[in-house]
Formats: sequence, structure tokens, C-alpha cells
Amino acid sequence: MASILDSWDLTPPVVPPRARFCPLEPIGVGTPLVEGLTGYLLRLAEAHAVPVAALTEELRRCVPIARPGSGGIENDCPYGLLSYSANGVEESAAKWARALNTATLRSDLRNLTLLAFVGFLCSLSLFRRFRTWCPACFGEWRSSNRSIYEPLLWSLTVARVCPYHRQPFVSLCPRCGQPMRPIMSLSRPGYCGRCGGWLGATPAKARSEVTSAMAPEHWVSKATGDLLALAPEVDHQPAPLRIAFRDNIDSCVRHLFNGNGAEFAKFVGCTPTSVYNWRNGKTTPRIDQLLQLSERLRIPIAAFLLSGAGSGTVDWKTIKPDATDYAAPAVLHRPRAKMRQSLRMVLNEHPAPSLSEVARRLGYQGTEGLRRINPTLCKRITDNHRKSFQYEPHSHGPRWRICGRKEVEAALKAALAKTEPESVPRIARRLGYTGSAPFFGPFPGLCRAISLKIARRRATRIRAMRRLVESAIRQNPPPTLRMLALQLGYKDKKVLTRYFAGLCAELLARRRAVAKGRIAEVQRELQSYTRLEPAPSMAEACRKLGLKPQTASRRFPVEYKLIVSRYQQRRRKMAGLRRPY
Ligand SMILES: [Zn+2]
Ligand SMILES: [Zn+2]
Repeated sequence: MASILDSWDLTPPVVPPRARFCPLEPIGVGTPLVEGLTGYLLRLAEAHAVPVAALTEELRRCVPIARPGSGGIENDCPYGLLSYSANGVEESAAKWARALNTATLRSDLRNLTLLAFVGFLCSLSLFRRFRTWCPACFGEWRSSNRSIYEPLLWSLTVARVCPYHRQPFVSLCPRCGQPMRPIMSLSRPGYCGRCGGWLGATPAKARSEVTSAMAPEHWVSKATGDLLALAPEVDHQPAPLRIAFRDNIDSCVRHLFNGNGAEFAKFVGCTPTSVYNWRNGKTTPRIDQLLQLSERLRIPIAAFLLSGAGSGTVDWKTIKPDATDYAAPAVLHRPRAKMRQSLRMVLNEHPAPSLSEVARRLGYQGTEGLRRINPTLCKRITDNHRKSFQYEPHSHGPRWRICGRKEVEAALKAALAKTEPESVPRIARRLGYTGSAPFFGPFPGLCRAISLKIARRRATRIRAMRRLVESAIRQNPPPTLRMLALQLGYKDKKVLTRYFAGLCAELLARRRAVAKGRIAEVQRELQSYTRLEPAPSMAEACRKLGLKPQTASRRFPVEYKLIVSRYQQRRRKMAGLRRPY
């Protein structure tokens, strides 16, 4: 009996795609100590027993072939520049994650970066420039035979101490004492990239400088870890994250600070403008600000980033900050009706206070809030205050009287009786008043009479001065302006030019004309001396004319030379006569 054999299945079997790199399982996803992408690269290189440089070369070679046109690392991207920013929120991080995903056929390597927070966290000063680690963690993992890796937390600038060992992170190799770049060609997880020395330390040795569990650095490091652990939960969706943060911060300010954003800003140590923008959803905080919020209030970081009824969310109405110096600030926003009533009461006060004084009393910093409540009442308060200020400069009751009415009157009459009366403002000052209004008000007639008398005396004085100036012009020679002013009893000649500008100009012109005439006269006389016999000496001529020899030589050079030469001729002739034959 012939048996019929099964027909062969000739369809080729489906071979699943092969990964170029070993698909290592990332460590700690969803926990505070989640591995960083740079750390994963180191571990991958170690698993293949090649230097990191060779691994990245291979990655660069195979990834564009695996996914042509997309996701590859640019060929001109120098390997040496690979830094912690590959763990960050920028496009370079996305490219590295995509490339490694392709090469390992994994899909979860984005979780080793901060890409979950893209659009929420800003990339500025997020990462350290040098490789940083916790020696105690390395030591502990090696002694318990666990994988050695580098958590993402260690690369962040904000975390300064290990959240588990509470000791500062280290950036200098214990063997060569040098800092190193996050990835160097010989880097291996847990070993120096320069000298290859072991970077870990035994926990006993490392336990020297442990920070307190209550220290701010410790809280910040722990909160940073919590933030990283949240990454799978927020799931690369910036919009819901921004909305959740906006709503949470608003609830926090409303319930814990009675809606007072400025108080909140002061408490957490940021600017009121930042708080205002966060509450409006205009901006998101930097990572250090976010952690500072959590640290100052001692509220878990998840409370600010998660919304809905899931785990980690908080009820802002019931939660109380764990911060020791927290106290809910006094309520500033009082009911409008009550404020309005207080403003109305102020209207009856005497002396009327200023609006800023009222605002201060009611607990406001400026008057803007009161004006918003009732502008009309505020206007009336301001008007009252202004009026009270006009008539009552002394707010402590009515002003005391400096002089009686009779004293004032007597002083005015006495002044009027004098030939040269004192002015009313001067009398007021002498009696202790700052102004003369109390004199002009009750005694307008007397004051006017004094002013008239003063004006009349002044006019008389000016007339007398004018006469004097006019007579001075006619004098020969006319006096100088300065002499004239001294004659009138003034130190400065300006007073003359102010009152009699025309006359002064005339006087000066006349002085110039007289001087000119005098010069011509002297010249004539000098010329007569040039003809005189016997020829006189220059000294003699000068003496007779009242001239200085220097002035004569400068003003009348021709006559001067002639007189001098004639006198010299005469001297020579006389000397010749005396000479014996
Ligand atoms: Zn540690
Ligand atoms: Zn070293």
C-alpha cells in the first residue's frame, strides 16, 4: 500500500531581523537610578569587548544602512564631542537613541534620556561637562556582583550628592587625580578613561563625609531621582505635562499661600514674575527651579507634575508643606464689601489720612488694590487729604497763634511810620512767620500802604541816582562806572548798568572821547618838545607831561625817537666843546 507522503512546505521561513549589537537590557528604567544613554553606550562597548570609539564607528557605519535617510548620526559628527547632552532633551539625544534602538533592535532606549520631558525642561546647564560618579555605589555594586553602570542622575548638574549614600559625587580619578570627559576612547563602566583605574571605593572608606538626611542637597538629589523615575509615566507628552504643572502650581499658590503669588515667590526663592508666568502657563520652570520648589516646600516633585487621581498626585486643599518655616500668609484679599466700609469710615476721619496711609493700614503694599475696589471713594479720600493739607499743615490739631492781631497791627503801623519802612514779608519773618499771608489777609490797607511807601522811596532813590549819573557824564574827566557805583554806595557797578543802561553807555563813550582828546594833546606837546632848544631829555619831557617813558615809547614812537636822538646829539656836541685842543 502506497503511502502518500506529505507535501513539502517550500515557503522560505521568515527570519527575524538580526541586531547588529547585543540588545542589552537597560538598567533601572522607571527608578531613580535609571541608566543614562552615555552609560549604556559604555556598557555596550564592554559587552562587545571593543573600545567605545570602535563601537561608535560601527554604529555610524551600520545605522544609515539599517534605516536609510533617517535617524542616523551625521557622519561629520565627531565622536570626541559626545557628551552628557546625549542624555538630554535635544535633537542630538533623539538621534543617538534612535541609532542605538536600530542597532540593538530595541525600542525603549529613549527612556535612558530626558526626552520624556522635551518641551517642558529647558536644555540650558542641564548636564555636567565632566564624568561624575558615586564611588560608594560602584564599590557596593562590585562587592554584591551586580552590573556596573552609570545612572542618568549622576550626569545632572542639579544633583550633588548620592541619594543613597548621601555623599558628594566625585569627578577626579582617585588614581591619576584627573577629571575626564563623559566618554573617552578607553572609557569603561566604573574605570577611569585616562589611566584605567577603578573609580569605586569601599562604602566604609566612602562614609567619611555623609550629608544630613534633612540637608537641601539630599532632598534635591532624591527629588531629581524621583523626577527621572516619573519619565515613563509622563510618556513624552509635553502639552499635558505643561498643563498639569500650571494647574498644580496654581492650586499650590491658592491653597497654601492664600493666592498670594508674591509670598509664594519669596518663600521658594524665585521672582514673582516667574510665578505669574508659571500660573498662566506662559513658561515652564528650569530644572533647578522645579527642584527648588519641591525642596523649599518639602513636597514631592510628582505633586507638581502629575494630575488626575493617579498615584503621586496630591490634594492641594489638604496637603501641608513639610518645610519647618512654612506658615500660611495672612489673607490680603479681604471681602470687597468690608474694604468699602473701611474706606467710607476713613472719610469721616480728622485729620484726613492719605490714601497710601489707608492702604498701609489695611495691609496693602500700594494703593492700586484699593483703587480697584472703589475708585470714587479713593478719589474722595485723596481730595480730603489734599484739602486738609492746604489749611492745616500741622496735623496735630489747630495751629497755635504766633502773634496776636494787635501785635501784628502794631508792627505794621510802626513800619509805616518809619522813613524807610521794612517790607511786609521781612516783618513777618522777624515775628516768626514763614509767609506773609497772615498779614495781608487781616490788614490789606496797611500792607498796601507800606508797599506803596517802599515803592515811592525806591523811585525817589532811583531818580537821585539818575541825576548823579547825568552830572557824572558832564564832569571832566568823567569818573569810571566803578567809582560812580562806590559814590552811590554800591560795591558792584552792575547796579548802574541795570537801571541806566543808556546813560552808562553815554558815560563810557564820553570817557573814551576824553581819553582820545588827551592823547592828541599829549602828542602835540611832545611834538613841541621836538622843536625846543636846547633839546630836552626824554625823562624831562615825560616828567613835565606826567607820562611814563614806556608809555611814551609805545604810544608816540616817532616823537620818542626824535627827542631821544636830539638829546644825544646835544650831549655829543657838549662833549666836543669840553674836549681840550
Ligand atoms: Zn552612591
Ligand atoms: Zn585615572
